[in-house]
Amino acid sequence: MTYELSREHEEFRRSVREFAEAEIAPHAAQWDRDHHFPVDVVRKMGALGLFGLTAPEEFGGAGEDGDFTSLCVAIEEIGRVDQSMGITLEAAVGLGINPILTYGTDEQRQTWLPDLVAGDALAGFGLTEPGAGSDAGATRTKAVLENGEWVVNGAKQFITNSGSDITSLVTVTARTGEREGGKAEISTIIVPSGTPGFTAEKPYDKLGWHASDTHPLSFEDVRVPEANLLGERGRGYAQFLATLDDGRVAIAALAVGCIQACLDMSLEYAGDRQTFGGPIGRKQGVAFQIADLEVMLHASRLLTYKAAAMKDAGAPVKDFKQAAAVAKLYATESAVTATRIATQVFGGYGFMEEYPVARFYRDAKVLEIGEGTSEVQRMLIARGLGLPVE
Ligand SMILES: Cc1cc2nc3c(=O)[nH]c(=O)nc-3n(C[C@H](O)[C@H](O)[C@H](O)COP(=O)(O)OP(=O)(O)OC[C@H]3O[C@@H](n4cnc5c(N)ncnc54)[C@H](O)[C@@H]3O)c2cc1C
Repeated sequence: MTYELSREHEEFRRSVREFAEAEIAPHAAQWDRDHHFPVDVVRKMGALGLFGLTAPEEFGGAGEDGDFTSLCVAIEEIGRVDQSMGITLEAAVGLGINPILTYGTDEQRQTWLPDLVAGDALAGFGLTEPGAGSDAGATRTKAVLENGEWVVNGAKQFITNSGSDITSLVTVTARTGEREGGKAEISTIIVPSGTPGFTAEKPYDKLGWHASDTHPLSFEDVRVPEANLLGERGRGYAQFLATLDDGRVAIAALAVGCIQACLDMSLEYAGDRQTFGGPIGRKQGVAFQIADLEVMLHASRLLTYKAAAMKDAGAPVKDFKQAAAVAKLYATESAVTATRIATQVFGGYGFMEEYPVARFYRDAKVLEIGEGTSEVQRMLIARGLGLPVE
């Protein structure tokens, strides 16, 4: 057993860090201020191969040279300088590419994956609705089969990468019928951008992740071919839940990047800032908080990469689900605490947007919400222990 990433993964980390420092870090504050989604940087991340880390070579992916652990390394490193671009990568691969790769037909994969893997296109994942978030099975969006076409009506909300200039499609869960006993049959439909009746509404005004693309979506008599069904009819909900297991580990990696940023910024500031005739890092009250950041970083990173290694090794689904929920819960709650500590270390400057610590403080909160809230993770973990939690 080893607790270290491989030499290849560490080399890969260095190359992503160089890219992030050069292409993202210098602009992140401006994009945040302007609520600007930098499509050119998405394309550059594509050119670096970041969207193809879990995809086969035939679609332009890394094939045998990539794995889920590499994706987590990339998300961590991008997230260390900019959480918005980190979530853009996380959602593009975990929620955009992954469902098509896993459940798509040969034709669907050939049609959509090359551009998504190249970073020339993005796909959204439309699960959440105004009345169905944690309770995602309560979806009201409907798709009815009529003359060889699905006719989709409904609404989705908070959907990442769903309305950018390069978004090529969203996958949407919809009720496609009723099972015996009156339970909804839920399936997944691919809706290409530009289909008449499909609108990505005005982007949200969010607390954080200002440079990430998030929209409400509406569907009014949207017609797509019957062949746009993704995976088996009636398996849509199960497919999305499985997609979210991987996504949770990737969100944990984003949280690790956030904690690393908090540690780096706090350490530097604690060495520079003088009070009472010396640097604040000499005061136990400050030094001990920074020590706590180090502990949270180590523990979160270990949980995250353990879950990622389980994914790569094909661990039993039940074990992986539990590891993913544990990593997501611990790393994201730690990230929120870490940003509070870092902001405190910076004192009044921590409250000013001129230091990135303020941006990380705003960005961190959603980590405890997206891809299953902390409460949902606790519910899953308790169920994994055999407790009959509702
Ligand atoms: C910026 C952003 C981007 C997002 N991107 C996407 C995306 O790309 N695709 C997508 O489909 N969704 C996306 N989401 C949606 C996200 O996954 C949901 O917001 C999240 O799952 C919570 O759902 P909700 O907002 O409806 O909250 P609710 O489910 O209404 O929950 C409200 C509160 O009640 C708690 N709660 C609910 N049920 C229980 C229970 N059984 N036990 C204990 N507590 C409970 C919750 O934990 C929460 O604290 C995004 C959200 C945000 C904010």
